[in-house]
Amino acid sequence: MFIKKMRVCGVVALISAVCFGCTADKQEHYSYMTTFAMNTIISFTIDMPNGEEEIIFSDAEKIIRGYENMLSVNVEDSDIYKINNSDLGEKISISDKTMEILKVAEEFEDLTDGDFSISVAPLVTLWGFTQDIEQTVPSYEDIEKTLELVDMKDVIIDEDNNTIEFLKDGMAIDLGAIAKGYIAEELTNYFRDSGVLNGHFTIGGNISTMGLKNDGSKWKIAVQNPVDINDYVGLLEVTDLFVVTSGGYQRYFTEDNVRYHHIIDPKTGYPSDSDLLSVTIISDNGAEADILSTALFVMGLDKSLEYWEEHRNFEAVFITEDEVIVTDGAKAIFTFEGQDNDFEYRD
Ligand code: AMP
Ligand code: MG
Repeated sequence: MFIKKMRVCGVVALISAVCFGCTADKQEHYSYMTTFAMNTIISFTIDMPNGEEEIIFSDAEKIIRGYENMLSVNVEDSDIYKINNSDLGEKISISDKTMEILKVAEEFEDLTDGDFSISVAPLVTLWGFTQDIEQTVPSYEDIEKTLELVDMKDVIIDEDNNTIEFLKDGMAIDLGAIAKGYIAEELTNYFRDSGVLNGHFTIGGNISTMGLKNDGSKWKIAVQNPVDINDYVGLLEVTDLFVVTSGGYQRYFTEDNVRYHHIIDPKTGYPSDSDLLSVTIISDNGAEADILSTALFVMGLDKSLEYWEEHRNFEAVFITEDEVIVTDGAKAIFTFEGQDNDFEYRD
């Protein structure tokens, strides 16, 4: 854990979306902490009374480690590790929190018509996105065979007994598209309960904003240009909301000049191939923001807009090869700045 206390700052963290919250002001008094967990960088910029940062950041770190030990596919004895390494027919007991996350995942598998599915894990492994291994395009036969293991109908989630069981050998689940958002919300609740009202943090691109900047203005989040990650296409101004971006540019490998990214279409077994380069979700629900950024990226623009029309409990910024498209509620909080990079703005 790394804690820093500063009066003046100009931090720009380039992850998937960028927080430009902390422009210098003599009254500003933010505390910073950076840590590494769940295979990603987590950094906090929190306005809190002098002397409390040690205890508050230490508690935040404990919360993160607790979830990592419960949910990580790589931590032996985590709930997810135990499930993924279970014998056929074995029922694995899990914590209440893991159950809560699984129920949300199940609900969104239905809502998104299977575009979001935690059962996609065997495919993610097949494509080499779980470990640091040399990645290569799998054979068509291997993809077809692995697709048979991707179906939540073969995952028995028993809420009464807090157990989970797989009906097919070789199945696995992966919370990579939901856990960080869920934890972001839990941490936000912890900060609020601890009397921290203003600040922001990011867990591998899952941004949480709390309250306002010291000058009374909202936090500014830059929506990254998926074609040039050192640039951005616009700024969101938000308070007390989660902002999460998913995009094919975030993790990928290249073979024969073709890019293969880490978001897999559970129906085809291949990296999703829609017209979207990235999706940014703005929501007051951390887990849903994380889920939907991934799910809508798989859906593509038209189906995503239909999904938004039907639900309207979040806002979004979509980026295609040549357009930036925002939902109705995002218009008032988004400033388009992508014209210099040949993007057209559609609202
Ligand atoms: P995100 O970065 O939030 O979009 O999540 C991507 C991660 O979620 C990947 O690295 C996989 O671990 C997992 N994943 C990939 N495709 C899907 C999918 N269609 N549904 C659910 N999880 C996925
Ligand atoms: Mg996600």
